[in-house]
Amino acid sequence: MTPRNEQYERWIAQKILAARQTTTIGEAGKTGTWRTIRPVLIPEKCLVVKSGKPTCHKCWLYCPEATVSRSIPPVFDYDYCKGCGICATECPTEAIQMVPEKEAPSCAETIANAGGNADA
Ligand code: SF4
Ligand code: SF4
Repeated sequence: MTPRNEQYERWIAQKILAARQTTTIGEAGKTGTWRTIRPVLIPEKCLVVKSGKPTCHKCWLYCPEATVSRSIPPVFDYDYCKGCGICATECPTEAIQMVPEKEAPSCAETIANAGGNADA
């Protein structure tokens, strides 16, 4: 595997941030209906949950559907999450697991396990 280039990564992050200024949730419709697997947070591994500070949020940054909240813990909006897995790939600590829909815990359960609030 090719090692990641820091300068290139920064450039990509800037491009994504610029794009995120115009991306809004639900732009492509209810993309949650496309999903066969869903992201589930493993709070013990999540940097913002562990630190209690908004230190990472790469999942929020890279999600192409803007369905991850920038909260503690990060919360997925399953009405619009299409299950692409980008958030799980970009998470530096493997704190997001992609789980088949049938085996997935409910959203409320996930938030409760992370010690968060559904309104966050
Ligand atoms: S990218 Fe991973 S570690 Fe960072 S906030 Fe999201 S779930 Fe937590
Ligand atoms: S799997 Fe992750 S990156 Fe993809 S749409 Fe859902 S929350 Fe966003």
